[in-house]
Amino acid sequence: MIKKEEILEILDTYNRDEITIATVGSHTALHILKGAKLEGFSTVCITVKGRDVPYKRFRVADKFIYIDDFKDIKNEEVQEKLRELNAIVVPHGSFIAYCGLDNIENNFLVPMFGNRKILRWEAERDLERKILENGNIRIPKKFNSPDEIDRAVIVKFPGARGGKGYFIANSKEEFYKKANLLKERGILDDEDIERAHIEEYVVGANYCLHYFYSPLKNEVELLGIDRRYESNIDGLVRIPAKEQLELDMEPSYVITGNFPVVIRESLLPLVFDMGDKLVKSAKELVPPGIVGPFCLQSLCTENLELVVFEMSARIDGGTNSFMNGSPYSYILYNEPMSMGQRIAREIKLALEFDMLDKIIY
Ligand code: ATP
Repeated sequence: MIKKEEILEILDTYNRDEITIATVGSHTALHILKGAKLEGFSTVCITVKGRDVPYKRFRVADKFIYIDDFKDIKNEEVQEKLRELNAIVVPHGSFIAYCGLDNIENNFLVPMFGNRKILRWEAERDLERKILENGNIRIPKKFNSPDEIDRAVIVKFPGARGGKGYFIANSKEEFYKKANLLKERGILDDEDIERAHIEEYVVGANYCLHYFYSPLKNEVELLGIDRRYESNIDGLVRIPAKEQLELDMEPSYVITGNFPVVIRESLLPLVFDMGDKLVKSAKELVPPGIVGPFCLQSLCTENLELVVFEMSARIDGGTNSFMNGSPYSYILYNEPMSMGQRIAREIKLALEFDMLDKIIY
């Protein structure tokens, strides 16, 4: 594991008047880079030929670092270029997928915004559960084997297949029937079925809650909420029930986009309580805990209970739904604050008060 002292030594060599904010051109890079520019930083986008288009056309990157393949992010030459640019990297979902957790933990010697140790805790389902349970946050009941299924469950599989092959079952028999069908279609193999994650299917409305924890202010802010637009499920539900039955199609839950939403105001105390609890739990289990953005993906039941089925311990893709601010970030900041700009603001504040060591790892 890269030691904090190693990162602080690199930061000591940086010209603090010329800090560059860097990220990979994908996921939430548009508002990370735009937000950095709004806060007065220069920006660099790491990309491959052909994927640079949005960052050029939206003019959010001052510089580009081109690589042949996204998995080359971890290469020494890229790290060296970033250090030469006095870069602070903002990790997002695609950055983590391309660089790889092992490399982030052990080889990627470039200062990063946030706690790099916590990234594994959101990527591995058991660790994610542990952090949520430790925080006393309501999560779906987990079933250890198909034999235990006694209600509607959703069945998920390991690996980043983005909701493809997930299915709903009501019994052990239905579990095997559907799993075998997906196996025949080449979507799953025996090992996947063996390692299936089975959890209570929560019927509710989707709220993905985007928070920012500021170690400088020691406060959790709610900056926005989105709901997911997933394929094919969101298309499937437009087909009338009779035709759905005739079609006999399997649903999938592949994220394709997001809608901004607001939650009924009386639920906000619960929303803040959940954010505070996660920050406390993360501090206990993975010190220094969460630094900056995190997200709790929840379903709100008819009893107005928020059940969290997934968390992100870094900027979540749903923050793209409020690149020009959300109703919540507007109320707090009196300006259209995106999550990307909020990150840059924290870095700017830390530079001003000489507190970079509180937010860079
Ligand atoms: P990603 O990492 O891309 O967010 P994932 O593969 O980890 O996705 P989840 O986010 O856990 O998958 O689930 C995908 C979708 O499945 C959710 O957005 C939601 O629509 C549905 N879903 C997940 N868990 C539950 C649950 N317990 N009850 C009802 N629906 C669920």
